[in-house]
Amino acid sequence: MGDRNAEGALQVVTTPEYEAMVIGAHPDDDDFAAGATSALWARQGKKVVWVVMTDGTEGSEVPSLSNTELMLAREHEQRLACETYGVKDIEFLRFPDGHLTNNEETRRAVVRLIRKYRPRLVFTHDPSQYLFAPDPDEQPNETGHINNPDHRATGSIVLDALFPAIGNPRAYRELLAEGLMPYKVHELYLFYSSQINTYIDVSETIDIKGKGLLCHATQFGPDTKLAEMVRERAAKVAQEAKEKKGLDMQFAEAFRRVKLYIPPETQAEK
Ligand SMILES: [Zn+2]
Repeated sequence: MGDRNAEGALQVVTTPEYEAMVIGAHPDDDDFAAGATSALWARQGKKVVWVVMTDGTEGSEVPSLSNTELMLAREHEQRLACETYGVKDIEFLRFPDGHLTNNEETRRAVVRLIRKYRPRLVFTHDPSQYLFAPDPDEQPNETGHINNPDHRATGSIVLDALFPAIGNPRAYRELLAEGLMPYKVHELYLFYSSQINTYIDVSETIDIKGKGLLCHATQFGPDTKLAEMVRERAAKVAQEAKEKKGLDMQFAEAFRRVKLYIPPETQAEK
């Protein structure tokens, strides 16, 4: 766009208001992916907002349960979990669970929220991740699984929102009337990616993650070993951080980090 200085040109905002926005498909996705990181940053006084794309109404084995009842129960659980982590802001977009697609409506909803909160970092699902499948020769007793289509759709919606729509003054111009200016997100953090390059030391908050996940009672019930599993998983990730990057951590969460915008005043820093 060569008319940046033309009359009527809008300056794209680059100053963040929030440290991070975590965007997951279902209630509990944000928890599994970035619950401990969110809790850590909330403790440090950083502002974190969570977004849940769908209404979570396919997350049950009971077909006779009403959608509204399940949706409200799961939103309540998610709010309790957020209280546990210290995450004060949460947005439920309530698109139908199991049927999420990357379209005009879903992209606009994400553009609106990102322009509203102006997070420095956006966390979401890696849309390129179709399968989680170990090599059967190396791990003969492990099954692989297909990534939930809502997870892929969420990643794809968020990436398409991030570029070019959020920072483009001519995209979703009706949002300008709501005071939602074009904005540049500084970094993207993809979770459950096969190209992990960033580890966050969450040793301080790993137990809070376990407690938060247990708030999702419709999903896990009370007698679960979930908290233990969460610790084991995070310990494995920390081990990987040591092997790959020489980092010394007890528990970690892992992401593929992509820098999208570097503020001029920090460019000289190493
Ligand atoms: Zn999910």
